[in-house]
Formats: sequence, structure tokens, C-alpha cells
Amino acid sequence: MAGNRTLAIIKPDAFGSGKAGKIIAHLEAQGFAVICARVIHMTKAEAGAFYEVHKGRPFYAELVEFMSSGPCMPLVLQKADAVAAYRAAIGATDPAEAADGTVRKLYAESKGRNAVHGSDSDENARIEGMFFFGAAALV
Ligand code: ADP
Ligand code: MG
Repeated sequence: MAGNRTLAIIKPDAFGSGKAGKIIAHLEAQGFAVICARVIHMTKAEAGAFYEVHKGRPFYAELVEFMSSGPCMPLVLQKADAVAAYRAAIGATDPAEAADGTVRKLYAESKGRNAVHGSDSDENARIEGMFFFGAAALV
């Protein structure tokens, strides 16, 4: 059975332009509950560690630079089948390809500065939730 939690981040582009409230309201209206939330400004080392899985990809340096460029807002969200439901709610990585009504279509600037992060599996949701919130992400 799929898990009911996922890890989201309102990225520095959206957080810095005052979109956090709108994005959270949008997600709550779709049935996601906020379980954990904080505002942080990651160092390059922290952003690099979070995105370790993408090390070696051509966009890694740009991604680490961007994610450490200003404050962001990690969230643990709860809903049935949370990983898939949240990825459907945020839309494709590139906002130009994201479906109408999705968070990235509404709020993202570009494929790199794309407003939000979302875990891609239940296992990564647990790992990423622990990264920002420790055991609080699981209880
Ligand atoms: P997603 O966030 O949709 O799961 P990926 O895991 O493939 O997408 O990539 C992680 C993040 O890296 C993206 O959200 C985006 O910020 C950035 N990224 C991915 N591909 C590119 C690209 N081609 N150019 C610039 N940034 C990219
Ligand atoms: Mg991903």
C-alpha cells in the first residue's frame, strides 16, 4: 500500500516572491494536510547533500546554487497516496509542460526555478522527511 506522506519544499523562487501562502492554500484545498513545516536557508553543503542523487547531472551546480540562494520552506504533507497525489498536484518539472491548474503551471518560472520540490517515492519521502524534520516526519 502506498504511503500517506510526502516531502515538499516551497523553493526559494516561490518563497522569496511571497507565494508560500497561496501554494499551501492550493494544496490544502486539494486535501493535503501540513504535518511539519519550517523556514530555512540552506548552505550550499546542505543543498548539495539534499540533492546528492543528482550529483553528476549537468544541472546539479545550478540547482545547488539556486536552492541555497535564499530561504525555502520544507513541508511534510499528508494525504492518501501522498507521493503520487502531490506529484499530480504540482505538475511536470518544466512549467511549460505542466498541466493547467498545477502548482508549477501557476507559480513556476522555469525548469530550474520551478517553485516546488516533491519526493518521487515512498522511500525517498521518508529519507527526505528525516533530512529536514528527523523522526517528527514519521510520527
Ligand atoms: P522533479 O523536481 O520534478 O522531481 P528532477 O528530480 O528531475 O525533477 O530534478 C530536480 C530539480 O532539478 C528540478 O525540480 C529542477 O529544479 C532542477 N532541474 C531538473 N532538470 C533541470 C534542467 N534541465 N535544467 C535546470 N534545472 C533542472
Ligand atoms: Mg525529483
